[in-house]
Amino acid sequence: DPRLKAITEAIRVVPHFPKQGIMFQDITTLLLDHKVFKDTIDIFVDRYKDMGISIVAGVEARGFFFGPSIALAIGSKFVPLRKPRKLPGEVISEKYVLEYGSDCLEMHVGAVKPGDKAIVIDDLVATGGTLSAAISLLERGGAEVVECACVIGLSHFKDDCSVNGKPLYFLVEPR
Ligand code: IMP
Repeated sequence: DPRLKAITEAIRVVPHFPKQGIMFQDITTLLLDHKVFKDTIDIFVDRYKDMGISIVAGVEARGFFFGPSIALAIGSKFVPLRKPRKLPGEVISEKYVLEYGSDCLEMHVGAVKPGDKAIVIDDLVATGGTLSAAISLLERGGAEVVECACVIGLSHFKDDCSVNGKPLYFLVEPR
């Protein structure tokens, strides 16, 4: 797909952010290029439009940049999966382990229902810990998770393109 080269090139790499040694993949520069941003959304929309997806779940914060546009285009709902204490209603929570410490995602009770078919969207998958927590939340709500989708995926996922037993789809590798 010739669009993927431009997507890769539109992502800025910021060395040593947020700390020494990390090559941070910054997708805010992709959002500044209308054609590349639209191509990115279009690729996801073409993939998911005829799969009977009823829920697009976006991971805070960068999953919110892509998820709602995809949801609107494929005729599904958008469900935000948020960091602790951001959602005002009753929530279910899922803790997950990071390289240093742990984090947590929350989802509103009632946001998904048994029978829902969901995809999860984030900007980047590294260890898959965040997506695993997202999958658990959706499944605890009764939804079926069809696939996880990211703009950027680390190359070690090339061999086993799955997270927690669910298919993983990503567009490009880090620069
Ligand atoms: P994982 O849980 O180890 O797969 O890490 C993925 C999460 O960390 C996602 O929510 C990403 O937004 C975030 N993340 C890790 N590294 C980067 C990066 O270089 N750029 C943008 N987000 C990152």
